[in-house]
Amino acid sequence: MSVRMRHTRGHTGNRRSHHALAAPRLSLCGKCGEGHLRHTMCGNCGTYRGREVVDVLAQVNRKASRAKAKAHELGKEEKKEEQSEKSSAGKVSPEASGKK
Ligand SMILES: [Zn+2]
Repeated sequence: MSVRMRHTRGHTGNRRSHHALAAPRLSLCGKCGEGHLRHTMCGNCGTYRGREVVDVLAQVNRKASRAKAKAHELGKEEKKEEQSEKSSAGKVSPEASGKK
């Protein structure tokens, strides 16, 4: 963008005086009393207008088990990589020593 005209810090400040972010308006959950966005399910207990929409506990458990499974899988892969690194390192090191 081209610079059109010199402006003061005051001008910049005046312009930026309207840039502040407002906190979202929260309404209180009827079941647990936690704040949640309007027309949105309560993230704490999973209810909307007093009706349970999402089984939060089951979701948390599912997430935890998935994370555990993923960590387990990653652990396996890391072990495999370590083994391959060791074998490749064994191949590389004699060449390196031969060059030196
Ligand atoms: Zn709630």
